[in-house]
Amino acid sequence: MTKRAQAARWQRGSRIAGILEGHFGSPAKPGRRSNPLETLIATLLSQNTNDQNSYRAWVSLRKSFPAWEKVASASWQAVATSIKVGGLKNQKAQRIKKILRSIHRETGKYDLGFLNDRSNDEVMEYLLSMKGVGKKTAACVLVFSLDRDVFPVDTHIHRICDRLGLVSTNSADRTFDAMKDLVPKGGAYSFHINLIRFGRETCKASKPLCGTCPLFDQCMVPETQRLAAGTNTVRGESNKRKDFLITERIVRDRAG
Ligand code: SF4
Repeated sequence: MTKRAQAARWQRGSRIAGILEGHFGSPAKPGRRSNPLETLIATLLSQNTNDQNSYRAWVSLRKSFPAWEKVASASWQAVATSIKVGGLKNQKAQRIKKILRSIHRETGKYDLGFLNDRSNDEVMEYLLSMKGVGKKTAACVLVFSLDRDVFPVDTHIHRICDRLGLVSTNSADRTFDAMKDLVPKGGAYSFHINLIRFGRETCKASKPLCGTCPLFDQCMVPETQRLAAGTNTVRGESNKRKDFLITERIVRDRAG
């Protein structure tokens, strides 16, 4: 790709991030950061389920096993029982136990604080070596716990970036790589949070609310489809109020 084309892509990413900030505001970061190990396990629990159920699974896990060593020494079946509300309980329980054991084997404790001294690439490499940890989960640890300028991409952000023509990839992981050149410097947290909100409120997976979309003019979905979707109406208002990021919720809980 030529430098000019690259600059044009970056400008487009910045323009879209700016429109979203104009629409939703610039989200404030929580006063304190979530613990990296908590973010890792909470994000793992959030895979393939919704916010409410992953949070319920998190609360149940912490209530059943208040210390990480208790999770590591419990049977995977007991851990699975405690997180069943979050789905994929057996797979998640076995992965969580393996992750905890490998962290303890390498560091002698259940703590990922040492990641603060590692570069982004080193953190990614370390976390991605764990079974069940993908780029999105690793990126969540980087942005939410280590305060790095990294842009996590889940299936929803992947869908929106594709609709907006920011990327043309067939997976969230590839979109994560492609978006590195497009996210405004220092703006990863804001862009991520605003896109999550945009996906929940407007650019939904099915029946996007194109008629009220602040990015209508930027969108690459054929205009006929956008205009047809312009008549979609808002549903699920009561559920919308219950949406939250599990990483922010556990920080609030710790703050008491
Ligand atoms: S116009 Fe519709 S499809 Fe395009 S970004 Fe907006 S809500 Fe999504």
